[in-house]
Amino acid sequence: NTTVYYDDDADVSTLDDETVAVLGYGSQGHAHSLNLHDSGVDVVVGLREDSSSRSAAEEAGLRVETPDVAAREADRVVMLVPDTVQPAVYEAIEDELDEGDTLQFAHGFNIHYGQIEPPEGVDVTMSAPKSPGHLVRRTYERGEGTPGLIAIYQDATGNAKEEALAYSKAIGCTRAGVIETTFQEEVETDLFGEQAVLCGGVTEMVKAGFETLVDAGYAPEMAYFECLNELKLIVDLMYEGGHMGMWNSVSDTAEYGGLTRGEEVIDREGMEKILEEVQNGEFAREWINENQAHRPAYKQYRAAEENHQIEEVGGGLRELFAWGEDADQEKEEAPAD
Ligand code: NDP
Ligand code: MG
Ligand code: MG
Repeated sequence: NTTVYYDDDADVSTLDDETVAVLGYGSQGHAHSLNLHDSGVDVVVGLREDSSSRSAAEEAGLRVETPDVAAREADRVVMLVPDTVQPAVYEAIEDELDEGDTLQFAHGFNIHYGQIEPPEGVDVTMSAPKSPGHLVRRTYERGEGTPGLIAIYQDATGNAKEEALAYSKAIGCTRAGVIETTFQEEVETDLFGEQAVLCGGVTEMVKAGFETLVDAGYAPEMAYFECLNELKLIVDLMYEGGHMGMWNSVSDTAEYGGLTRGEEVIDREGMEKILEEVQNGEFAREWINENQAHRPAYKQYRAAEENHQIEEVGGGLRELFAWGEDADQEKEEAPAD
């Protein structure tokens, strides 16, 4: 049985004599910095000299230094720049990690795949909200939180877990619940999930459904509503009540058709291959090389996605119909990037 940690299991005062350097002020960085600050933790934000995020952090009342200066005075350095630039940023701060300091992540890619190799005397931990940054901030402001993970990769001080929990409390995660995992499990499940189900699997299924209907002569607008727009309604039901909550809300015809036909579109061997390539490091190697080559394949895939008919049809429909009130409100509350 998984232990879930809540507010009572953590003590923010554990971080009382620490200065925390949050490197990056994007999705996660702005949320962590502001929540830590409001929880009474001493925060310094680390950003490059010409950073486009600098003014936002300063206007929010936070102290900003370059990453190396921030890391020098910090006891805890939190890597919240994009995963692909973390190895370069790490090089700039590596010499500032003293014995007993903590190097902390919100995702395990660079540690697990050996792109960052911290020194022995340093704690290496993770405190990761399972949520985009604007919700980490918004829920905290409401007195709530988002669920989170902690993981300990290296415990040089013996305090790594206690501190990771204290940090998770300071950013609001223990209000919702925090579970412990490992860097390996977090990375492998995260990459598999986003590739096979969440981002890759879902978009491919939506496109294939849309194309099947359009190729058969149905109106693209009908195909868009059926295969993309309604997906949210189904996912909301699953989110609230699991699969049974969803099956109970749709018609018996939808339920019978779905239960008997759904499996036909799933390629389990394909899924296993995706997991294998995550586990054996093949995907990571490919993505690291792709970045070193300035992303030629990435740019091609992205252009094809932008030019897909579903984008044009959907863009037009989203403007014509007035179902976007909630969406507009969410957009306003999300930080501009
Ligand atoms: P973002 O892409 O939002 O980070 C952008 C920030 O990083 C900006 O402040 C940017 O400043 C800074 N930055 C970019 N490049 C550099 C650089 N070369 N040197 C210094 N600063 C730089 O990152 P996320 O918040 O999305 O991700 C941060 C971490 O959190 C990742 O490990 C990610 O996997 C993890 N995570 C993300 C989640 C999410 O929902 N986004 C959820 C859970 C974990 P500048 O203006 O200088 O470019
Ligand atoms: Mg410490
Ligand atoms: Mg992910």
